[in-house]
Amino acid sequence: MNVEKSEQIKHAGQQGKEPTTDRQSLCQFFCNLYQELNMKSLLFILLIICILAQARQDDRYTTARNNMVQSQIVARGISDPGTLRAMRQVPRHLFVPASYVSEAYSDRPLPIGYNQTISQPVIVAHMTELARPAKGKKALEIGTGSGYQAAVLAEIVDSVYTIEIVPELARESEARLRMLGYRNIVVRYGDGYKGWPEHAPFDIIVVTAAADHIPEPLKEQLAEGGRLIMPVGNPATVQQLIVLTKRKGKITEQRLETVRFVPLKRLK
Ligand code: SAH
Repeated sequence: MNVEKSEQIKHAGQQGKEPTTDRQSLCQFFCNLYQELNMKSLLFILLIICILAQARQDDRYTTARNNMVQSQIVARGISDPGTLRAMRQVPRHLFVPASYVSEAYSDRPLPIGYNQTISQPVIVAHMTELARPAKGKKALEIGTGSGYQAAVLAEIVDSVYTIEIVPELARESEARLRMLGYRNIVVRYGDGYKGWPEHAPFDIIVVTAAADHIPEPLKEQLAEGGRLIMPVGNPATVQQLIVLTKRKGKITEQRLETVRFVPLKRLK
């Protein structure tokens, strides 16, 4: 090749350089756009799959909850519409440890850590019905535990104050109830034996731990026409479910069936 020809080729190469780069970058641009769109569509499809999977899962829990209410609660004679609605509403599987989620709707109490338990669904429903919850009422619960009973009450009444003696449980339940959007529940760490005088009187007091007597401060904090539900007896074995009613300042007591609750502890 002579020098002239090689110069021509070089020259031609240089001349074609600009248009080639433009074409390449345009091509690159469309390639990137295509990839990005593809990525976005992929993410979008993944999102839809997740939403559908979640909806299916939610559906499964809703079915499990409806079955629980029908076979364990209605079948045993609980009929208060508010109580049944609340039991169908509260996602019990979100109140039990991850390792017990598959048993959340079974007919038994479950461990919630710190040697404590979430009561059997029918017991929660029974205590709720006995409390005669209604809109406009204020409730106090002693023994927050997982926060489940508090949530069931909060579905019906105006406000729920709940006290828990295990600090970790109080913290966890408060976070759980906040995450679930229960704005009408106030959780406090402390010894519930003394009640919560700052917010008394209460139309409903539910004690979900057992003692050999009903704490005097709780009786005092019961509103006129109010009802207190508590397991009373030997805290180490079995107790009787007691309903106290206050009418014209006078307290009457009703003794119901035998139950088994964890003991009411005291802070030193
Ligand atoms: N209601 C709970 C379960 C109750 S288990 C639920 O729905 O999950 C009883 C709870 O009472 C335990 O968490 C225990 O730590 C708490 N407890 C025991 N003695 C207490 C006291 N003196 N004051 C407040 N909570 C108490």
